[in-house]
This record gives sequence, structure tokens and C-alpha cells, in this order.
Amino acid sequence: MMLKGYVHKILPFSAVDGPGNRTVIFLQGCNFDCIYCHNPETIRRCSHCGECIKACPYAALGLERGKILWKQDLCRDCDGCIRACPYDSSPKVQTMDVEEIMDHIRKVGGFISGVTLSGGECTLQAAFVIEIFKRVREMGLTAFLDTNGFVPLQQMKEMALTMDMAMVDLKSYDGEEHRMLTGKGNEPVIENIRYLAEIHKLYEIRTVIVPELLDNRKNVDKISRLIATLDPNIRYKLIWFRSVGVREGAKIWKEPTEELMKELVAIAEKNGCKNVVMV
Ligand code: SF4
Ligand code: SF4
Repeated sequence: MMLKGYVHKILPFSAVDGPGNRTVIFLQGCNFDCIYCHNPETIRRCSHCGECIKACPYAALGLERGKILWKQDLCRDCDGCIRACPYDSSPKVQTMDVEEIMDHIRKVGGFISGVTLSGGECTLQAAFVIEIFKRVREMGLTAFLDTNGFVPLQQMKEMALTMDMAMVDLKSYDGEEHRMLTGKGNEPVIENIRYLAEIHKLYEIRTVIVPELLDNRKNVDKISRLIATLDPNIRYKLIWFRSVGVREGAKIWKEPTEELMKELVAIAEKNGCKNVVMV
């Protein structure tokens, strides 16, 4: 039987989700609940409550046998339904099999260097991800994983062996701060980072900089020291917190200044990181 996954959306081309031009598959469902989440509609699976139907100005939503029905041909992607969903979900999530995913990839295969599996948290659908990675590599494309790092990859060796490389969020080096931010501790994340570096599959670590919420200087100092001891060439990406698209409570937080971002880049470089970027 063909494996199926819950797919939030497919982006045919992206220049910011790994090296080169990539197709990105965003899977639905996440095991974190970050208070600054920029895509909260990827967190939960739809409960089919029907609340979003009246928010659609194009009659692209309905209920059929108790399940939400998305009429893709009528949809104009205005995202009114996502804004109306009280449950951090989207009625546009599709159940797709591996072959349907590969059809999307084959259409653009000549124009991309690889495929990135993202989310939500895609490691929660490991078997689906592994099968896609296998097929992607058979096409001569690279397979990248974008993860929050919480699911232990050491216990999912097939995933680690099947992909080319991974990009991992380390949202805070401080365990308590990480728990406050995401709802979970950071020990498994740091374990995964060590493991991926050891098998030479860690492409990038990312930290979002939020001035009013996190001890950013301490975080960047500690995380960059960790990177420098693992491999100073691992890319460290410092991400500017933006208030667009975040949850209501996070909209009032200030974005970092350019001065702060440059100071943090300088801290990471001084600690030995050779590939620090801010975006
Ligand atoms: S994104 Fe599509 S389904 Fe959602 S409200 Fe807009 S038109 Fe309707
Ligand atoms: S997307 Fe949200 S509002 Fe719409 S049916 Fe699903 S849970 Fe309800």
C-alpha cells in the first residue's frame, strides 16, 4: 500500500530552504507550540468543525459527510479560512500519497537542485519522509530535512542515512527558556545537533532573535561556541523576528534592530563560527 502523508502545502521553488533552488514540501502537524510561531496553521490536524466555511468569500469550502471539503478549483488562496480557524489548522491540508508528491517534483525536476521536507514538523511522519527522500535521491536530487530537532534521529537511523543533510532550529540554549518558548525542553535538540554533526549531515542551525522575549546575546554566545566545537563551517543562521504572520500575542513584540543583529553576528564570528548569516 502506498504511504500517505498530511501535506500542508507544496512550494515548487524556494531559494531560502537549503542550498540552491528547491521544492519544499510542508507537512501538517507539529510537536512544538511556539509562542512566536510564524505558521500556526501548520500545528494541528483539522477537527472538521466547519468554522472556516463562512470565512471563505469564494464558496470554496463545505462539509461532506462530516468532513471539511476544500474545492481547490474555486480557491483563490486568500487565506481567510486560515485566519478564521480557531484550532491552528487549515482546511487546505491534503492527504497525499508518495506518488502524488513525486508527480509534483517531477514537473519541476529539471529546474531544482533538491527537495526539502519541512513543516509543521516533518519527522512526525517519518516513514512518508523516508520514502520521498529515497525517490528524490534516485532522481539525482538532494534531500534535505528541516526540523525542530525534537524527535531523536539516533533512533531513526534510516531517516538520517537517507537524507543528504539537515537544518535544525535551536531556539534557545537555555532549557527553561526553550520550554517557555516551545512547550518542550531542548535536550533532544542538542543531542540531535551533536549526532548530525558527527555523521557530517548538519547543514545549518537557526535561531530566531526576539529582543523582548529571549536572552539573545547569551543564546548566540552559547550556540555559536557549540557550533565552533562541532564544525565551525556549519552555517549559523540568525533570523530576524518579524511580527507579520505570527500569533496575536506576539504581534506587539519589537523586531530586532540592525545594530543588535550585527552585534550577534560579531559574537558568533568571534567565537569561531565561519559561516554566519542573518536573514
Ligand atoms: S484560501 Fe481558499 S478556501 Fe480559504 S478562504 Fe480563501 S478562497 Fe476560501
Ligand atoms: S480548518 Fe480549522 S476551522 Fe476549518 S474545519 Fe478545520 S479545524 Fe475547523
